Amino acid sequence: MNAFSTLTHSAPTSAEDRAALLAEPGFGKVFTDHMVTIRYTEGQGWHDATLGPRGPIALDPAAAVLHYAQEIFEGLKAYRLPDGGIGSFRPDANARRFNQSARRLAMPEIPEELFVESIRQIVQADAGWTPSADKGSLYLRPFMFADEAFLGVRPAKSYIFCVIASPVGGYFKGGKEAVTLWVSHDYVRAVPGGTGSAKCGGNYAASLLPQAHGIAEGCDQVLFLDAVERRYIEELGGMNIMFVMTDGSIITPPLDGSILPGITRDSLIALAGEAGYRIREERYSFEQWEEDTRSGALKEAFACGTAAVITPIGEVRSNKGGFVIGNGAGGDVARMLKEKLVGIQYGRVEDSHGWLERLA
Ligand SMILES: *Cc1c(COP(=O)(O)O)cnc(C)c1O
Repeated sequence: MNAFSTLTHSAPTSAEDRAALLAEPGFGKVFTDHMVTIRYTEGQGWHDATLGPRGPIALDPAAAVLHYAQEIFEGLKAYRLPDGGIGSFRPDANARRFNQSARRLAMPEIPEELFVESIRQIVQADAGWTPSADKGSLYLRPFMFADEAFLGVRPAKSYIFCVIASPVGGYFKGGKEAVTLWVSHDYVRAVPGGTGSAKCGGNYAASLLPQAHGIAEGCDQVLFLDAVERRYIEELGGMNIMFVMTDGSIITPPLDGSILPGITRDSLIALAGEAGYRIREERYSFEQWEEDTRSGALKEAFACGTAAVITPIGEVRSNKGGFVIGNGAGGDVARMLKEKLVGIQYGRVEDSHGWLERLA
């Protein structure tokens, strides 16, 4: 693979406009000036890596992604470090997971170094868009889709890989700490043998209707149960889940093929283990969760993922009733783990795992 060619933006956002946008960026609404684009063609491989001005992508109306949804993505963040530099958290893990998703969707893999280099390119070009540590971070969204114009059903022969970047503050509006979950008994997110462990747009498309039902019920997020028995807790539409027990253990559903292998999940398993918690990657049923909450065997539950890091679960509702966790406002274990993880991400706490990757 050849080097990146760089097309500088002829009219980047002024420092003044950028400061106004960074004051309250919200989540996923504000975008930086540049994007990375790399093309793949069967027979030729990856080519034409470009860092250029962000803008629309022209697609043939028969582009395979528009019909058969060959699309995958990643989500990671760049953080402002104490010395003014910029780091990111385990981008190599995102690169590996991206390629696992690519294999499941019959798409070409991208060399891990090229994936990480594309992130470095956009972060360096748009360094001024990375918020200060107290304001937020720069969310990075690598994605790949099939652009071959062909309506036959088979893996496409050409693809576009892109990275865009978006400065973000908090993920959930209003900055409320604990969320209320809606447990969907009518819909599932993923099935054994399906695409649940791949980070693909199709999984999100399937989660939107149940998510809308949850919102209509006054909840923030939907929790999905397993597709076969409709009993075991899997995860949220875009976050994994953990349960803190009174006996000093933490339960999280095992990666059995229909759950997305979260990098936050994996990092928290390591940090919680070091903090003395016994990690149990075990199936856990919704009935058991309710019973353990009522008996006091469970003291906290939280969701985890890159976008919102750790989000305490305050209340659970479904069409069969509901229950409140602890005092409904989140607990100490979630707070302690969040502080440790965020401390490493922003370079404030010693990174004994080598998770932090300096980008600028
Ligand atoms: C991205 C994602 C997660 C969280 O993964 P992280 O690597 O921790 O950000 C969890 N569940 C789903 C369905 C996801 O798409």
